[in-house]
Amino acid sequence: MRLKSFLFALMLMLGMAGLNAQQIIAHRGYWKTNGSAQNSITALMKADSIRVFGSEVDVWLSSDGVPVVNHDAHVTLNGKELIVQDTPLATLRKVKLANGETLPTVEEYLDAFASCRHTRLIIEFKTHSSKEREAELARKVIGMVREQGLQEKVEYITFGLHFVQQVRMIDPQAKVYYLNGDLSPGVLAAIGAAGFDYHYNVVYKRPQWVQAAHNLGQKVNIWTVNSPEDIQKIIGLKADYITTDEPLLVRETIEKQ
Ligand code: MG
Repeated sequence: MRLKSFLFALMLMLGMAGLNAQQIIAHRGYWKTNGSAQNSITALMKADSIRVFGSEVDVWLSSDGVPVVNHDAHVTLNGKELIVQDTPLATLRKVKLANGETLPTVEEYLDAFASCRHTRLIIEFKTHSSKEREAELARKVIGMVREQGLQEKVEYITFGLHFVQQVRMIDPQAKVYYLNGDLSPGVLAAIGAAGFDYHYNVVYKRPQWVQAAHNLGQKVNIWTVNSPEDIQKIIGLKADYITTDEPLLVRETIEKQ
């Protein structure tokens, strides 16, 4: 009987530790490691290899309507700056990432993601020049995710409220988080967002938003938390997810708590 209650207490403690532990999202994949580069397919596979909760990636629509992976609004090709959304795929494919990979399409990225065993994919929709183009990007990307049967493993984030509406309309089951830092958890709940994903400075100013979001059944993600001091502070604030360029340092810090 004593053994039984001991085991029960142990399970309870482990369960609580599991519930309280923050999940790690590798910002633009796990890229601060040999042979990797931001938003490369290698960075996604490396994120999966260290078993983080999620690997984040940024997506745009090329001028000829193909979803592609890149962070910045520009790429540099032969010393010239090109705007991603105004450039056709054939030209974008000449761009090499820092590790020598060709700038990936979203389709290639999802093909690679289909073989990941541990990480989820957190897709950031970048804001575009028109609502039509944003709608086209959302429709195409969510369609590809659905074709691959990956809906359960993919979540969305965006600075654009229009994208929040698009995701809600195209796949009402999908989780979409809002990045822009200006809306309260109450407003986000009302528009059907799964929670907020804000810069740490926003959350330092309004730490009460974490509890407010949790009270509404929402999740809280905070970006991009890299320094040891900020990692400590954000763990203390009880965010559910920590987006970082330093996934191993965040993990080590969480484990030391
Ligand atoms: Mg991003």
